[in-house]
Amino acid sequence: MGEKDRHFDGHEHRFAITRPTRDDPTLVLCPQCQGLGKVFPAPLDSAQVQFGCSSCGLSKRREPQSRLFQWQSSDPTDSYFGYSLWLNIPCCGERLWVFNRRHWDLLFSYVKAEHRERAQGEYGWRNASIVSRLPPWISSKKNREVVVKALLTLKEKALWGE
Ligand SMILES: [Zn+2]
Repeated sequence: MGEKDRHFDGHEHRFAITRPTRDDPTLVLCPQCQGLGKVFPAPLDSAQVQFGCSSCGLSKRREPQSRLFQWQSSDPTDSYFGYSLWLNIPCCGERLWVFNRRHWDLLFSYVKAEHRERAQGEYGWRNASIVSRLPPWISSKKNREVVVKALLTLKEKALWGE
């Protein structure tokens, strides 16, 4: 077990990692054509967020007033427009979903890691980190293989390689 296989629950904050960026947008289901849509900071005005679908051309903008989370629901949504997440599949009788690539990377490295350690942050233990808020079925050792497989399926669905 090398150092690279260790996962540290360090400084990642769940709100930071799930916030879309231009390079790593939140992937959602287009409400108009059910194609792959993206939510990202609006060009030229990062105070706004934008939704865009390259299949049907639907485009929307809005001020991100408050972010709405429905993470426990069976239909998790992006937190700005309320659109269903693209990366969302059944797993272990629950729903496995991720917002974007960074979120996927974090979950994948966490689930794959043999040693799960927590690094103490500058301000003490970070209970709000995304890892400590994961539902037990994701962190359960007995589900590891199934969850890893489901994450790989999600990765294919994301088309990140293209
Ligand atoms: Zn569309």
